[in-house]
Amino acid sequence: MKFSFLNFKKFFLDLFWPQFCLGCQKEGDLICSDCFSLIEILEYQFCPFCKTAQRVLDKGACAAHQSKNLKGLFAATSYQNFLVKRLLKSFKYQPFLKTLAKPLTDLIIVHFLLIDKKKIFQPVDNSLFIPIPLFSSRYKWRGFNQAEEIAKILSLYFRIPYQSDNLIKIKKTQPQTELKAIEREENIKNAFKVSLPKDIQGKKIFLIDDIFTTGATMEEAAKTLKQAGAREVLGITVARE
Ligand SMILES: [Zn+2]
Ligand SMILES: [Zn+2]
Repeated sequence: MKFSFLNFKKFFLDLFWPQFCLGCQKEGDLICSDCFSLIEILEYQFCPFCKTAQRVLDKGACAAHQSKNLKGLFAATSYQNFLVKRLLKSFKYQPFLKTLAKPLTDLIIVHFLLIDKKKIFQPVDNSLFIPIPLFSSRYKWRGFNQAEEIAKILSLYFRIPYQSDNLIKIKKTQPQTELKAIEREENIKNAFKVSLPKDIQGKKIFLIDDIFTTGATMEEAAKTLKQAGAREVLGITVARE
């Protein structure tokens, strides 16, 4: 290990605040390799809008959902997995463990390796990662946008650019988890805006988020991007409800 100020800082932080695995409490990392390897990663793609799992092959959505703006979803794992739920909660809420972005993004990377769809990012110069934005007050409260942290790491790994200041959230919405499906659509309606449409003209956009529930948020964001000139919009998330 190269000796640097950062390693030095980490050494002292570990000394005074040792980290424990959120799965088995073993000292070391926030998620140990044993617990990480036990997380079941999805090996297939499913229609984003079908309530019962509907596997899709070349087309990202089932025949009944072809008219949606979101043309497919890559979800790495299930939110029903207790460890995934715990990791995502510790990432987004107290104690706001921002460093969990790395292992959570690794789940997505493994998903892409398993489904063997790395070609989806071709041509590279036409693809763009865009994280689902937060409203300003929400960003201040958490101190970071969890989707943006994931997008940054994915961008480095796949060498696809990401843009986090183009799609913006202009409406303060209630947390979607507190609402019924029909209320979610109304809550998120007209919540997004594209500030620089020329940057997304003709682009294949991958919307990044932590959790996919009913899809209301991603569909609304996809609609906004399409109206601003995006060619195609797909979703990438760590987990699916
Ligand atoms: Zn563990
Ligand atoms: Zn469907």
